[in-house]
Amino acid sequence: MVTIEEAHKIIKDQQVKLKTETRKLSDCFGYSLSENIIAPFDMPSFDNSAMDGYALCGISQEYIIIGEVAAGDKKDFILKKGEAVRIFTGAKVPENTSAVMMQEKTNVQGNKLTLDQMPKEAQNIRRKGEELIQGQVVFEKGTAITPAGIGLIGSLGIQKVEVYKKPLINLITTGNELIDPGKPRAEGQIYESNSYALASACEQFGFKCENKKQIEDDFEAIKSGIKKSLETTDVLILSGGISVGDYDFVKQALEENGVEEQFYKVFQKPGKPLYFGRKEDKFVFALPGNPASSLTCFYVYVVPFLYQLSGSAKSGLQRYYFPISNDFENRGDRPSFFKATINNGEVEILDGQGSSIILSMAHGNALAFIDAETSLKKGEKLECLLIS
Ligand code: AMP
Ligand code: MG
Repeated sequence: MVTIEEAHKIIKDQQVKLKTETRKLSDCFGYSLSENIIAPFDMPSFDNSAMDGYALCGISQEYIIIGEVAAGDKKDFILKKGEAVRIFTGAKVPENTSAVMMQEKTNVQGNKLTLDQMPKEAQNIRRKGEELIQGQVVFEKGTAITPAGIGLIGSLGIQKVEVYKKPLINLITTGNELIDPGKPRAEGQIYESNSYALASACEQFGFKCENKKQIEDDFEAIKSGIKKSLETTDVLILSGGISVGDYDFVKQALEENGVEEQFYKVFQKPGKPLYFGRKEDKFVFALPGNPASSLTCFYVYVVPFLYQLSGSAKSGLQRYYFPISNDFENRGDRPSFFKATINNGEVEILDGQGSSIILSMAHGNALAFIDAETSLKKGEKLECLLIS
């Protein structure tokens, strides 16, 4: 049995080989860069107008209009003092432009331009290189690519980027009692829901579960299911059968497949029977079958590792500190993750904390961490993981 901190450390300390690939700009959201992105040119690459209005040469209130330049125009005016051109947002400002006056503050009669106010030197001109300069490191290797990041990379004319590959994930659920939703249910059976919850939790963090399989509590079937899955996957996630019951075959089946235990059992609630193992470059999490336990273990341990395997700098779910809405005591002897709701800046611990109870987790939006045998007074802050 390990502590929560030890479990995190064992996961973090795994030596992993990161794989890279080239991805199109349109297809790299949520990946992490495996290269630095360097600006190939200054941005903006030419002085341009921030407004629809008039580009002016010299500072006065009267000008003669000598032409027009729109965004994308290649025309090259050279202004003389007292001259102006009609200009539009994003258009290249002519040589010798002192300022651009927005059109709302101008009056035009024929080719005569009169301004409502004196222009200020350099007003409304976006200068070449004011955003970034050629050769500047725009993103460091390891940065997660966001929509704004994609916008920036695209604006630099870069169409393909080198990123870390995301791990291939397989899911195996075990249990004789499990049937798929939609099928008629016999006495003693329950609907298999963990694979749906876990696969969508993968998606929640930008990962995809490639393959999922349901296997009965049969040692040989579980053993061969694991063997097959390990041939293709990077991370195998199992649910159920990892506790100490007579029908819990997962641990032995992993051992017989040559998977080496990194830890088994974590001193926590829920999710004590959590297992983590590896076989060469393949990793296995065996999560307890109870629905709230399996999802809690996924959020707390699997997500950080999936980030790690995909070269991300993120260390897991966002952690926040919020004041608790009522006095509360964790009477248990294990540090615990409580199903909770963060609302109006306060965290409320929900009714229904049993490992099997998914209702409170489905209605809540956070996991609140409280140490063993700890009393909290209303208003005391506690650490929360935001799960939705
Ligand atoms: P186990 O970890 O296999 O002992 O299962 C613990 C509890 O979780 C039992 O009540 C199981 O019926 C339930 N359970 C196991 N796997 C699933 C699953 N995939 N979906 C829903 N409930 C499950
Ligand atoms: Mg079971």
